[in-house]
Amino acid sequence: MILPSTPSPRPFHHPEPGSALHCEKVSLEALARHYGTPLYVYSADQIVERLGMFQQAFYGREHLVCYSVKVNSALAILKLLADRGAGFDIVSGGELERVLAAAPAAACRIVFSGVGKTEAEIDLALRAGILEINVESEAELELLAARAAKLKKKARFALRVNPDVFADTHPYISTGLREHKFGIDIRQALRIYKSVAGNRWLEAHGVSVHIGSQIRSTEPFGAAMERLNKLAGQLRREGIVLKAIDAGGGLGIDYHGGSFDAAAKVREYAEAIENGLSGFEGQLLLEPGRFLAAQAGALVARVLYVKRNGRKTFVITDAAMNDLIRPALYQAHHEIVPVRPRAGKSRTVDVVGPVCESGDFFARDRKLGPVKPGDLVALLDAGAYGMAQSSNYNTRLRPAEVLVEGGKARLIRRRETIADLLAPELAPADH
Ligand SMILES: *Cc1c(COP(=O)(O)O)cnc(C)c1O
Repeated sequence: MILPSTPSPRPFHHPEPGSALHCEKVSLEALARHYGTPLYVYSADQIVERLGMFQQAFYGREHLVCYSVKVNSALAILKLLADRGAGFDIVSGGELERVLAAAPAAACRIVFSGVGKTEAEIDLALRAGILEINVESEAELELLAARAAKLKKKARFALRVNPDVFADTHPYISTGLREHKFGIDIRQALRIYKSVAGNRWLEAHGVSVHIGSQIRSTEPFGAAMERLNKLAGQLRREGIVLKAIDAGGGLGIDYHGGSFDAAAKVREYAEAIENGLSGFEGQLLLEPGRFLAAQAGALVARVLYVKRNGRKTFVITDAAMNDLIRPALYQAHHEIVPVRPRAGKSRTVDVVGPVCESGDFFARDRKLGPVKPGDLVALLDAGAYGMAQSSNYNTRLRPAEVLVEGGKARLIRRRETIADLLAPELAPADH
């Protein structure tokens, strides 16, 4: 039997057997030598390709792909996406400032979600003239109406509803059930839209949903769209015509897989969404994040020590949980590969960082090819929720970031210095 060949889901590959791992045409060994480690490396081409997959899959409908900024908010990546027509999904005023810094003309393509928007953040969004504010409570809608009236800026809003759809994912990143803090119970939505229908400072622009993250099955997305579509129909009969339905993000990737067909997955996703939306004539907003950025990125680390404690072997790298917290926070799996594989038997090891926490691990009881101190390893699929969730815990300097574009590498964020870290602190008083 001949299996259909699936395109590799990652831009990282060995050009020849025995050569170093490359990102596109650029050797990770060369990048590590030049920029040091730990180092985040991203393929611009893959991010652009993934955006294109969404844009193509929804070709038949007016749509806007609003990249979820929290996933990887590097200015260079925001610019890359904005230049190709993407909009943005933001969850804070800080993210709004980022988009405005990277691509000011994209302000009109921003949607703003989040359960705890402050007055200052609402004002910032109204002044910037963003596309839509996704409102997550009645109290927030009242505040929005008041600020819009005060600033004399009409607010386009959507209610982010909670469709009570179960999506099978890690409990920390599931958001679409009634018991979660997100959104407004969909059964209350009709009443709330009607209650503000006469307000001249509010425009009911759309309805939105985001049921969670790293969702592998496309079925829950279709179910959520059906519920939103039904609500849009009920509103239409009441004379409230929504221009947009926002499907949120959440489409998952295969963190284990070497043979994951991303384009086919996006087509399957689009089909589920479109089935749920039949009869809806308006614009579709999409908020993918992880799916665009995760597999484009790797965290490159150097092995500091290999040590045995009892029955266990620990590979200690110069990257740690402060650089990539997903394994510690969500028990997430990242493939780890030696950048230049050595001959010899694989061993079962724990790959860990130097931080003083037993939770500081990247992998436990993992088969890894032989590595020695000084070798490089790459933690794959680290382009999403990697650098964006990094911290300075243990007073560690956050990694540099490199973007590989058209075969060329470009530093997009320099490594932090100790001066960067100490700058906001006030000098200790003399006694
Ligand atoms: C985090 C988030 C997204 C992106 O989720 P992914 O799983 O990365 O696609 C989209 N919309 C909202 C409102 C979010 O909070």
